[in-house]
Parts: sequence; structure tokens; C-alpha cells
Amino acid sequence: MVNLRSAREIRLMRRAGLVVWQAHEAAARLIRPGVTTGELDAAVEAVFQRYDATPLFKGVPGKIPFPAATCVSVNEEVVHGIPGKRVLKEGDIVSLDTGCRVGGWCGDAARTHAVGTVVPEVQRLLDVTRGTLELAIELLPKQALWSEVAERLARFVRESGFSVVDQFVGHGIGRDMHEPPQVPNFCNATTRRNDFRLRPGLVLAIEPMVNMGKKQVVGRSDHWTQVTADGKPSAHFEHTVALTSSGCQVLTGPPVTDEEHGWLNEARAAP
Ligand code: MG
Repeated sequence: MVNLRSAREIRLMRRAGLVVWQAHEAAARLIRPGVTTGELDAAVEAVFQRYDATPLFKGVPGKIPFPAATCVSVNEEVVHGIPGKRVLKEGDIVSLDTGCRVGGWCGDAARTHAVGTVVPEVQRLLDVTRGTLELAIELLPKQALWSEVAERLARFVRESGFSVVDQFVGHGIGRDMHEPPQVPNFCNATTRRNDFRLRPGLVLAIEPMVNMGKKQVVGRSDHWTQVTADGKPSAHFEHTVALTSSGCQVLTGPPVTDEEHGWLNEARAAP
């Protein structure tokens, strides 16, 4: 069962998305050689607290509950890295993935950053992965089925010489972070079997993960961190996106209207 959201519900989800955007901005300002992954997570959590937003990742059940508000994944770490004492170095890449709930509605987004200057091939990995997400957002209002979008995303990554991760997928999002449908970034028999029609009211967390080398991913013994099997770097970009009758709205993007700027300022000022 895929949930379709009204214009009013999408406006409410935008608030969670704005807080997620603000949290990413706060963390991005800290990224430089010498910062720890724990400091990035603390910056995210401080923004959530300021807006009275509930972190979605903290306490997610597993062999150990996820201990932080942000997944912070460095270099060959694909997703679900645990932030802590690790110090970032010049030339690293770092993926931050976080989400929160505001007023009962969820937002979820991820970005991969270069730490200082990275080698050109790694920069290309970041550009291609961001480009894959941008392509999805561009195609969403133009195609009838998700599989058509997924096929194009996979082709774009393949033609760039990189690999799409197929062990993890995006998801519907609304009252809960993970709702149906599954939103794969590749098109195989499973994609077609679980295909869905692109209709106004759909809200999806679209999140391509792209590996520089082979697509295979393995789990580390900390029960959370997922790394590339070949040890090569991986990048991850994600937005929460609403499909509306007038096109596509990126709910975790920067404020655009006066109302959105106003809400961000007022909500922060509230006791
Ligand atoms: Mg997600």
C-alpha cells in the first residue's frame, strides 16, 4: 500500500525537510581536516534540539540500537557508519545521512562531502552520485513508472564507469521514515515486480549509493557500518521528494519562499 499525501500534508512534511536541510548545513560548515565524525553528529543533533525535532536514526533497532542522530560513513564506508572519535583527513570523503520528525512528519537526506581537496577520480564519484539524484528528480514528473527512472539512473552510473549499490534502496516516507514503496536505484526483476506508478501525492526518499569499484557491500563487526567489499570509495546523496500535480518538490532542499524562511526563524526562536 503506497500512501498518497495531500497538499496540506506535504506542506507539513516540508517543515521536517527544512530542519534536515538546516542540520546538513550546520554539519557541512564544520567539515575540514581535523574534525571528528562525532563533532559532525553533535552539530546535527544540536539543530534537531533547537527545532524540537526527534532524530529518526537514534535507537533504530539492531544487534545494538543505532547510537547517534547521524550515520557518518568515511571513504569505503557506504552507509550506516557510527560517528565517534575518528578524525577526518585531507583527501577523505564523508557521507552524512540523517532524518528527523517534526509535528509527526518525517524528512530524510544524505550528502557526501570532500574533506579538503580530493583526487579527481574521487571528485568525479561525488559529482556522478549527486548527478544521479538530480537525474531522478528531473525524471520523476516525466515518467509513468519508477522502473523507468531506475533504469535511467543505473545506465547513467554504468556509463560513468562506476557501480550502483543494489543491497540498499530508497523508500517511501511520511509519518514513518520507512514506508512503502521500496525505491531501488537499479532495474532488475525485483524492481519490475515491485514497480509503482508515479502519481501526485507520492513522497519518496530517493538515495543513490554509488561505488567507485564493484557494487558488493559487506557489513563490519560493529553491526552497523557497511563497506565496499573491494575497499574503494563510495558516495551517497539523498533527498525527500514530493511528486505534485505541478511537478516535483524537494522537501529537504533550502528554504525558497518567505514563509519557509519565516518558519525556520520563528521555530528556532520558540522556547
Ligand atoms: Mg533514507
